[in-house]
Amino acid sequence: MIASSPSNHPLGAVTDFSRAGRPLDLACARLKSAGLRITQPRVAIIEALIRREHPVSIEQLHHDLANDACDLVTVYRCLAVFEELGLVRRCFFHNGTGLYEINLNDSHHHHIVCKSCGKVERIDASFTENTERILRERGYEQVTHLVEFFGVCPACQKKTAEFSPLPAASITR
Ligand SMILES: [Zn+2]
Repeated sequence: MIASSPSNHPLGAVTDFSRAGRPLDLACARLKSAGLRITQPRVAIIEALIRREHPVSIEQLHHDLANDACDLVTVYRCLAVFEELGLVRRCFFHNGTGLYEINLNDSHHHHIVCKSCGKVERIDASFTENTERILRERGYEQVTHLVEFFGVCPACQKKTAEFSPLPAASITR
């Protein structure tokens, strides 16, 4: 089968690893420098995280992996190791589900998660960095934070509006 046309094929849009300087190589280098082995399940999980680009649940991630690449427990274990290493970052959906995303360049950011469709967008983190700086100035050490935003995205609002009855004004002739 011929690869990589931007088609509707489920893998069509997600096989482009070339544009960001080989993220898989970067990730493997991080594993190596931490003294960790480059195993097939680890590579498969990292590739799946890179393809997703946005935070993903463990179940979604497991579903993304090729048949029998590894079982769910292995995914849990690998993600725990990656998180410890700072290679993945965990955030949380509004129902408390943990979501994981690859963290290769250490750009700190937060997310806005749509409560309706689950779409995740990045938002700038300068406000929390500023707060952490202030807290350190006040003498706090090992300052961390956990900040997520939740809302209903414009697309979902539009969908809801389309399904609700027309306002009286719009059906007058
Ligand atoms: Zn939405």
